[in-house]
Amino acid sequence: MTEPNDLLVCSPLRLEARAMRRGLSGRGDVRRSGYGAARSAEAVQELRGAAFKMMAVGGVGGGLAEDQQPGDIVVGTQVSRLGSADSVTLGSAPLLAGELRRAGLRATAGKIVTVDHLVRRGQREQLLAAGALAVDMESAPLLEAAAGRPAVVLRALSDTPDRPLFSPRAVPGGIAALRSLRLAGPALARWADACGPRQVLLAGPRSFCAGVERAIEIVERVLDRHGPPVYVRKQIVHNKVVVTDLEGRGAIFVDELDEVPDGAIVVFSAHGVSPEVREQASARGLEAIDATCPLVSKVHAEARRFAAEGYQVAFIGHAGHEEVEGTLGEAPRAMTLVETVDDVAKLEPQDPGKIAYLMQTTLSADEASGIAGALLDRFPAARGPGSDDICYATTNRQLAVRAIAAESDVVLVAGSANSSNSKRLVETAQRAGTPAYLIDGAEDIQLDWLAGTSVVGLTAGASAPPAVVGQIIDALSGLGSVEVSERVVATESIRFGLPKELKQ
Ligand code: SF4
Repeated sequence: MTEPNDLLVCSPLRLEARAMRRGLSGRGDVRRSGYGAARSAEAVQELRGAAFKMMAVGGVGGGLAEDQQPGDIVVGTQVSRLGSADSVTLGSAPLLAGELRRAGLRATAGKIVTVDHLVRRGQREQLLAAGALAVDMESAPLLEAAAGRPAVVLRALSDTPDRPLFSPRAVPGGIAALRSLRLAGPALARWADACGPRQVLLAGPRSFCAGVERAIEIVERVLDRHGPPVYVRKQIVHNKVVVTDLEGRGAIFVDELDEVPDGAIVVFSAHGVSPEVREQASARGLEAIDATCPLVSKVHAEARRFAAEGYQVAFIGHAGHEEVEGTLGEAPRAMTLVETVDDVAKLEPQDPGKIAYLMQTTLSADEASGIAGALLDRFPAARGPGSDDICYATTNRQLAVRAIAAESDVVLVAGSANSSNSKRLVETAQRAGTPAYLIDGAEDIQLDWLAGTSVVGLTAGASAPPAVVGQIIDALSGLGSVEVSERVVATESIRFGLPKELKQ
């Protein structure tokens, strides 16, 4: 448990220290550390032997980017002195920046450079080009006091390129910055409460499956071969990070084919499309490349086969999901969506002896087997798929998250809100009795989820990039020492080949 004075806050100027004290409402030992590098070095000497457990530097700073406004907060990811190649990495910056944004502040995690003189326009541009977002005059020397303890730097911007320090608008800028420092206090207190050593338990397997890797590779190859833009119908896979990355490389994601210009190349997403969409593409003369996962295509083929044999097909899945729309489109008159056990009771087949059922590939195994069981209770002769529709990747990730949930205080699942398999991982961990949360990245982690936890379970949905898992571990490491171990329940070696158009 964090004690009030475990948090040391160094604020260079009296006004900054006052704003931090007011914002923290009695939490933390807020000290005025003095203006500039020399006073900061003296403050560090005075702090030798002080019994704090985590440290924050809080003050105003100068912004470097055109889109910044006075009052914006930059939380330092790396802090360095101007002209020095050495820098201090502050891993938990994304966590605090996310917490500040959820508190309604404009906050960004980024590099901060400590300078020894006021920065002029040309130098601002150079620093910005080198990746820095803010400058100050004390943070780099002050951080020496942390001596390996968790630390953060937050600088509320009083001046920006648009509103330089010596301008008539500098006073309101200073007031806005001090107000932001005060408002940042509660989030900083939550950061202190979240600090501490931890164990991170990784679920194995986690992250990309073979179908997602193939779909991403298809878009990349089409981009390489034909150059941008390349149109993709729907998100290629349900992940914000993946989609943003491919957009940056020239992919354009559209909801429907009428947004694709005549003669363009269009990629169909991993979730699959109905025959109607294929026909539209062909009628428009579009060059379509199909990134549908082969395991989704297998379910499409089963739907066609059952429909051709005269079966009424109950399709167990979630309404509105693209995979469900595509599969139902294979035999719209022969298929009925079943989302719950109650839906089974509502089925009115023409011939109760000719019922079949299929499943969305990314369902919760527990939930889907409950619905299939209800269906078999009502229609004992109902036929199921030849082999499991819930794919190997979904099954393995659910088994793995269940294994870590049993040992964890909280489980974090990297994945986007529209990712079915990621949401099912959260539900699986919750069903095991452990609080679990879905996050796109470290900035989505709410600090009170971590307070009091010593074991954090971590996994990623089949559409979430492995790099996000590394970024989350880095962020947790900024709160204290982290020991990482893994629980592997299965190893995966499945790879899917590319469509023939891309093989040559
Ligand atoms: S989750 Fe399963 S069905 Fe979906 S893309 Fe991955 S392997 Fe294919």
